Amino acid sequence: MQTAIAPIRMVDLIGQYQKIKPQIDQALLDIMDRAAFINGPEVKQFQANLEKYLDVKHVIPCANGTDALQICMMALGLQPGDEVITACFTYVATAEVIALLGLKPILVDVDPMTFNIDPAKIEAAITPKTKAIVPIHLFGQCADMEAIINIAKRHNLYIIEDTAQAIGSDYTFTDGHTSKAGTMGQMGATSFFPSKNLGCFGDGGAIFTNDDELANKARMICNHGQSRLYYHDEIGVNSRLDTMQAAILDIKLKHLDEYNTARRNAANYYDTAFANHPNLKAPHRAKNSTHVFHQYTLQTCGIDRNELKKYLAENQIPAMIYYPVPLNHQKAYLQDGSFPITEQLCNCVISLPMHSELTEEQLSYITNTVLNSIKTIVNSN
Ligand SMILES: *Cc1c(COP(=O)(O)O)cnc(C)c1O
Repeated sequence: MQTAIAPIRMVDLIGQYQKIKPQIDQALLDIMDRAAFINGPEVKQFQANLEKYLDVKHVIPCANGTDALQICMMALGLQPGDEVITACFTYVATAEVIALLGLKPILVDVDPMTFNIDPAKIEAAITPKTKAIVPIHLFGQCADMEAIINIAKRHNLYIIEDTAQAIGSDYTFTDGHTSKAGTMGQMGATSFFPSKNLGCFGDGGAIFTNDDELANKARMICNHGQSRLYYHDEIGVNSRLDTMQAAILDIKLKHLDEYNTARRNAANYYDTAFANHPNLKAPHRAKNSTHVFHQYTLQTCGIDRNELKKYLAENQIPAMIYYPVPLNHQKAYLQDGSFPITEQLCNCVISLPMHSELTEEQLSYITNTVLNSIKTIVNSN
């Protein structure tokens, strides 16, 4: 069946690379000629360009998104036993670093429309030990930051935004001003893992902050807690973005808005094809945030999503379940309590191929196959 069109991937890093190959190859060859692998000028250059793009005072590059989250919590001086509130429906890294530092992750349920942390449930989870909130801008759309900022102010809590999936997304406050995802809390953390909206060719990450003191502290922690050469004021880590990754990211940053627009166009195509379908619910688009569609995640109802996934696979269309297990059911993060929305989402979501290179032909094939698949599943029941 699928003879004329290019193979469909969840993420098409090969297609994206082909379009910028000459610049990338040249940049990497230059670095090899200079052997400036660590702390080369490209790192500072990318840092400055990303600060400009995000309109944030400080970008501190580091080795990956998980480190970025950890370094934020270290820079804020969170102490063992402190409670940190985060969402139950997320990738594990968010809760992992909290636990790793001896802090206590307090999971709360999410909003059924946006899949993001539910501000009403944050308020209910606050105790005298609560020190910080970590909202995740899941799948490419900002959490309800205005409500979260108000709660944080009332209770004197820090906010660390996990913006690994939402770089480039814009959040609009009720007074009309707009901020980029990751720049609204005391600190923000992102990942440049290859499949993220801004991805490098290996691991990478960054910390964002508008606070000079926190920026200095984070920079120091990234570099073994060193204040000047061989003077170590803090316990730190070794977490750097290498020069090659920075050079790649600097080239790709110029295309980020275009990449995010291409993702949004693909999402629009999907939305139109699945509109008013009795068994599929397209992702909700919040009024206060643009969506950069790190994932295009459908909710299924009245059908077995595993049958859908299998049928798609038989027709050479990959699909993924992000995420199949609520964090509170993971052995390492067991937590009592009721998280009905997370449970429901873990049972019904399915993510379709989403990247900057999807062609109309591929989108037409994917949507037709999804619709045919559901007809087949419904008729066979
Ligand atoms: C990818 C991701 C991370 C971790 O990033 P790494 O660079 O892989 O360490 C953290 N949080 C979320 C929500 C992510 O999607």
